[in-house]
Amino acid sequence: MLARFCSLNALALAAACAAYAGEVDLSVTTQGKPTAARVYILDVAGKALSIPNAVSYIRRNETHSIVDGGKRFTLPAGMYTIRAEKGTEFLPSSQSIDVPAQGLTRVHLDLPRFVDMNARGWYSGDLHIHRSPIEMPLLARAEELNVSPVITRHLGGPRAADAAYPAQAMAPSDATHLVSVQNQEIERLQRGHGAIDLLNAPTAAAARMMTHYPMEVDFARAARAEGAFADAEKPIWKHVPVTLALGQVDAIGVVNNHFHPNGMLLDAETYGSMEREKPEYKTIAGFAQWMLDLYSSFLNCGFRIPVSAGSASGVMPSWPGYERVYVHLDGPFTYERWFARLKAGASFATNGPLLFVTANGKQPGSEFQWSKPTKVRLSIETRSQASIERIEVVLNGEVIRRLHPRSSTFQQTISINVAKPGWLAVRCFEPVTNTIRYAHTTPFWFPQNGKLPAQPADARRWAEFVRHLAATLSPSDYLSAEDHRAASSAYRQAIEFYEGLIASK
Ligand SMILES: [Zn+2]
Repeated sequence: MLARFCSLNALALAAACAAYAGEVDLSVTTQGKPTAARVYILDVAGKALSIPNAVSYIRRNETHSIVDGGKRFTLPAGMYTIRAEKGTEFLPSSQSIDVPAQGLTRVHLDLPRFVDMNARGWYSGDLHIHRSPIEMPLLARAEELNVSPVITRHLGGPRAADAAYPAQAMAPSDATHLVSVQNQEIERLQRGHGAIDLLNAPTAAAARMMTHYPMEVDFARAARAEGAFADAEKPIWKHVPVTLALGQVDAIGVVNNHFHPNGMLLDAETYGSMEREKPEYKTIAGFAQWMLDLYSSFLNCGFRIPVSAGSASGVMPSWPGYERVYVHLDGPFTYERWFARLKAGASFATNGPLLFVTANGKQPGSEFQWSKPTKVRLSIETRSQASIERIEVVLNGEVIRRLHPRSSTFQQTISINVAKPGWLAVRCFEPVTNTIRYAHTTPFWFPQNGKLPAQPADARRWAEFVRHLAATLSPSDYLSAEDHRAASSAYRQAIEFYEGLIASK
């Protein structure tokens, strides 16, 4: 009776049931070598358990523990499924076990690696991490995540005030899993601007702020003046068009923390996002389409903004690197070089599929001077844990080609006619489940006379949007008349920027 009681109540009662608990000796390897991995334990009822005395993460429907090569622990007698996973470049491995009331059960899980991104020159990073900097080196190894800027200062939200801002930029880690700590998030939800992540920002941002002031662009400008990287965390935030117009965005999170391993955060407007203008954006697939359409609309204003990605692990039911951006390096891996190449746009963002695209042999972010209609040789390769449902080639916001691999491995070279100047990008999607996994490259740029074109409809859209945004604010939203004047001036500059794009057409 007690054994049955133990199996139903699982680990919380493991200690009390020790006499009826079996010991499990779990080892996790890849290519025959011990490795760190994320481990799930499910009992017969499907209840997820964490491993005592391991680094574990429990958020909503996500419960896992990190095992670094091996771990011994006890489980109440019963049947279990143990599964290990490790980032985007490895296949999962699982095993069913019957743990007897006494004795040792050995479990060995080997995670096949189907691609070695570092060997191909690609290094991954998650730009939105809320995990402990102490635990992060282990988590980075478990997810094969190369760059982990941990947000150590969070301003504007309800979370408790942070400890003193770190004086050093980097936390101790190994040579290919780098963890930095001078990273800040400014987040004002509901009526506020949304969120922006200021990475590699040596000076702590001033904590004094109202819902609307200082503006995101002010924080971004101050941080960038010191060499920081400003990531517009996702395209749905109301202030993205303002911060972009004033030239203070380095990348934008087209794959972001609203996409979880087993679900989605679909109610974006609750947090203060822009309003969705189409009902079809309310579905799982539609939500991703909303991100992509917004990104396209910004690119159609001539912004040369690379893609980025962030999970918000620590807040969301995701692990670090669930959303990640891969950056292609043309030399040795260093933290500084990774950010420089991210800024240059040699990147794709993903929460699953790996997407390699070159145009005439060059990486995303490359520039091709456009003077007349020209043919481009586009080489597309995907590798993924799951099958890829479709690949889309996008030229100036229009899908001009669809491919349907229906396989996890795909490679094809196609010829694309670039009839007008602008931008060319590729994205791919796995089939929709209770979430959606997709990847998107930074575009290849085709400027004419050194300039990317702007499409009047998109410029008009954002001029109108910012005008409306500014009109919702009144002097009472500001601490002083001076603050109100400064904000009004910034809004005016953004509106004039978009109107200038229409006029120059
Ligand atoms: Zn955050």
